[in-house]
Amino acid sequence: MSFVPDADVVLVGCGPVGAALANLLGADGLRVVVLEREPSVYHLPRAVSADGEVMRLFQTLGITDAILPNMNVSRNIRHLNAEGKLLVLLERGGVGPEGWNHAYRFHQPELEAGLRAPLAGLPTVEMRLRCEAFALDEAEDHVRVRYEDLSNGHLGALTARYVVGCDGARSVVRRFIGSALQDLRSHERWVVVDMILDVPPAGLEHACDASGRIIDAVQYCDPVRPTTFVPMPGKRCRWEFMLMPGDDPVAITQPAGIFALLAPWQVTPATARIERAVVYTFHSALATQWRRGRLILAGDSAHQTPPFLGQGMCSGLRDANNLAWKLREVIAGRAPEGLLDSYQSERGEHVRAFIELAVELGGIIQATDPEKARRRDADLLANPTLLRPIAPPLGPGLHGDAPPPAGTRAAQPRLADGRRLDDVVGYRFAVLARPALLAAAAQAGLDLRGAVGVAATGEAGDYLDRVGTESMVIRPDRHILGVAASVAELEALLGRLPGATAAP
Ligand SMILES: Cc1cc2nc3c(=O)[nH]c(=O)nc-3n(C[C@H](O)[C@H](O)[C@H](O)COP(=O)(O)OP(=O)(O)OC[C@H]3O[C@@H](n4cnc5c(N)ncnc54)[C@H](O)[C@@H]3O)c2cc1C
Repeated sequence: MSFVPDADVVLVGCGPVGAALANLLGADGLRVVVLEREPSVYHLPRAVSADGEVMRLFQTLGITDAILPNMNVSRNIRHLNAEGKLLVLLERGGVGPEGWNHAYRFHQPELEAGLRAPLAGLPTVEMRLRCEAFALDEAEDHVRVRYEDLSNGHLGALTARYVVGCDGARSVVRRFIGSALQDLRSHERWVVVDMILDVPPAGLEHACDASGRIIDAVQYCDPVRPTTFVPMPGKRCRWEFMLMPGDDPVAITQPAGIFALLAPWQVTPATARIERAVVYTFHSALATQWRRGRLILAGDSAHQTPPFLGQGMCSGLRDANNLAWKLREVIAGRAPEGLLDSYQSERGEHVRAFIELAVELGGIIQATDPEKARRRDADLLANPTLLRPIAPPLGPGLHGDAPPPAGTRAAQPRLADGRRLDDVVGYRFAVLARPALLAAAAQAGLDLRGAVGVAATGEAGDYLDRVGTESMVIRPDRHILGVAASVAELEALLGRLPGATAAP
């Protein structure tokens, strides 16, 4: 009899990426054990912003109703020079093709609690808190994970088909894979402060909407002290201050140091409370190897992005979205293990584009040499820069060298009956096709190979018009596998579905 491991997948770490992956795998009935070192969600201030693509993933997880009351829609990021002149505008307003606004703000511990909540209702997911993984022993058909229960010092072990390291920047799983980190050359120290304010900060009129509510984030590109301001839901506001030579990193996080930094916004102890203050180094790095055999990386363990675009966590959640269905297909025996090779191939170049743009923006924001800052101001004031959110295609993986739209994001239109596309499809492959093409395919006895056939009515028909095609195959992570203009082309495209190439 063949060996049956304790779990299909062990996830090391339950930050946002581990929690999202546990949801996706558990919803498909995979046996998952999550090992998390901390007793509860990580308490220090980190992510504040998520994009529409990530909201669409939260829609798939069924948590948007629960988390939206604690979020607000965000608009632009204004990059101002020391004189308050606009250098760069990162514009993110309005509902986009994902069916969600381009950016939302939140408090990361609340979001993580929202991500963890559904896990309790998934019978095949087990969470072991205060358990720290410290060693991985690889065998041919499984991995043995050794961990310490930090609540009592007991050592434990369990076996799994696959182990995913969602264990953050200092990943133990990455160490066992033996992956190097490619240094993308930005490692500045900043003090990050979350404040609870009874009175809105002063001097932010330029960042308000028509009703006077502060809605834009501001990057103060002042060479004396580069600073970030982010308005958050409720009374919370985030400031990030670059540490400058001569700063004492301990003193600066004490109340006197923080209120001194906040003086320009007239924030005082009489009307404001310091929630948390901590010094972080904003790293930019990319792991060179995301998988070795049964060990896989996702999230900050695989890549670290400076927060200037608000994309570190978003990128990790994209990893989870890309990986979960591939693990599902491989573990169920419907796809060969080689499908997992497409994971880094697709995600690696995609996340690199975000890291490089964040580093480039960081170069603008973090210019502390007065002469360089003066030249930067002159250049950018002469050529005002308008940035829009980027949407790079996936690297060549499953779609190979097929031209776009293969490998790009599929939009989420509404169908004629008002339902949103993803709500009809779930976390599965979909064939979105003109009703006549879908009918012809059915008449020809075309096997959709488990994909959900959706007639492109309502906005979905307009969407196919815009793309200029009759049908498309959409992956569970909402990227386009390819487009097809006829039943024969659709049959050929479906032949590239992972399950279609699996050994029986
Ligand atoms: C100041 C700041 C602002 C940011 N702003 C944004 C933003 O606006 N938008 C955005 O998208 N991103 C932002 N980020 C990045 C974002 O916070 C991270 O990318 C995200 O938290 C990474 O998620 P993760 O799940 O991969 O790792 P983590 O959140 O680091 O979680 C890793 C988990 O693994 C656990 N763990 C580690 N080792 C072990 C072990 N051996 N055994 C068991 N458990 C273990 C840890 O306890 C932790 O819970 C920001 C980061 C910072 C520092």
